[in-house]
Amino acid sequence: MLDANKLKADILDDMRVDLSEEFDRNFERKGFFSDKWKPRAHDYSRGSLLMVSGDMRKATQGEVSGNGVRFSSAMPYTNLHNEDGKITVTAKMKRYFWAKFMQTKDESWRRMALMKVGKVITMPERRFIGDGPDTASPFNIHDFCARERLYPGTVQSALRLLQQNGYMTLTDEQEHPARVMFCVSRDDLYKIRIQRDELDHFIRTLLRLYNGVFSSFRPIDDNRIAAAAGCDVHCVRETLKSLWRMHVIRYIPSSRSPMILFDTERLPTADLYIAPQTYRRRYDMMHERFSNMLRYAESDEECRSVAISRYFGEHDAAPCGVCDVCLDRKHRGKRGGELPEKILSLLKIRPMSVRELIDSVGGDARRAAEAVDKLISEGKISLGAQGKLAIIE
Ligand SMILES: [Zn+2]
Repeated sequence: MLDANKLKADILDDMRVDLSEEFDRNFERKGFFSDKWKPRAHDYSRGSLLMVSGDMRKATQGEVSGNGVRFSSAMPYTNLHNEDGKITVTAKMKRYFWAKFMQTKDESWRRMALMKVGKVITMPERRFIGDGPDTASPFNIHDFCARERLYPGTVQSALRLLQQNGYMTLTDEQEHPARVMFCVSRDDLYKIRIQRDELDHFIRTLLRLYNGVFSSFRPIDDNRIAAAAGCDVHCVRETLKSLWRMHVIRYIPSSRSPMILFDTERLPTADLYIAPQTYRRRYDMMHERFSNMLRYAESDEECRSVAISRYFGEHDAAPCGVCDVCLDRKHRGKRGGELPEKILSLLKIRPMSVRELIDSVGGDARRAAEAVDKLISEGKISLGAQGKLAIIE
C-alpha cells in the first residue's frame, strides 16, 4: 500500500536535492537556471557580483518546510538577482506539481503538472531568495504612491517603521549622474564621425571612457569627459545635447532624487518582523505631539510664541506682546484696575452675596472672584454671618 505522506516527503526531498544542485550550479555559471545573471541595475550599489564567495554559496540551503521547499541563506550578503526565475520543467518537477495539485486542488498546479518536460516556465513563486543588501534604487514617493494608489502618509509611516527595524534606509535627495546610451548602430556612428568631423573627437572620447555605452545607459561624468576631450564642461553638455537632437544618443541629464537602500536581504512579507516597541515608540511620539498641541490650544496663560519656542527646545523666549494671550493679559491688566472700584461701589449701595455681586459685576466670573478675594485679604471688605459681602467701615 502506498503511503501518501511518505510519497510527498520523498518528492519534496527530491525537489530539495534537485533545486539545491541547481542553485549551486547557479554560482558556477553566474546565472539563474538558464538565464545569466543580469549586471546590476544600478552602478551606485556597492560591492560586485564577483564578491559572491564560497561561503555564501555554502550558506544557501534548501530545506523541506511544510508542503514546500524553502531556500534560505544564512549569509547576509546573498544577492541573487533572480527576478526572472525561469525554470525548465523536469520530470521531478512535474511530480512535485502533481503533489501540489493533489494537496491544494488548485488548477494552476495542474496546468503546470501537465506541461511537457523541457518547457521553460516562469515560476509562480519566483523569488526563492530576495534582493540582497546594498541594493539601491531611486525612490520618488509621489510617483510610487500614484503608481500603487497609496496614500503618501501611509507609505511614509511604513517606510519609517521599516527603517526603524533596520530593513531599509531612505536617503535625502542626492545628485545622480547623467546617463548616456548610443541609439545608433556602430556602422551608422562611423558614418556620422566621418560626416561630422567636429564630433569625431568627442564621440571617440566617449567610447574610450565608457565601454558598454552601446548596450545600456552608462553614468557619465561631465568633468571627466571635459578633461579627456580637452574642452570645458559647458561644451561637453552642449555637445551631448546636440548628439541627442541628432538621435545619436539617448541622454538623461543628472537629477536629484531620494534613494532607497536595502540594509538587509529582501525578505518574503511573511518573514518581515516589526518589533512591537517600534509601534509603541511611534504611538508615544504621536501622543506627546498631540498633548503638546492640546496644551497649546487650551492655554490662555502662556504666550503663543513662548509656547512654540519651548516646543522647539528654546526655553528663555520672551513674551511676544502681540498674540491673543499677550493682548488679553494687557486688557485684563487695564480692567483689573477698574474691577475693585466697581465692587466697592456696588457694595456701598448694599451688602450682597458673592453670587449676586459677581453677577452684578458681569464679565469673567473667575476674575471677579479673584478681585473679591484680594479685597478681603486687603481688609477692605468682609464676608458677614449671613453670607453677605459688605464694606469694612
Ligand atoms: Zn505673546
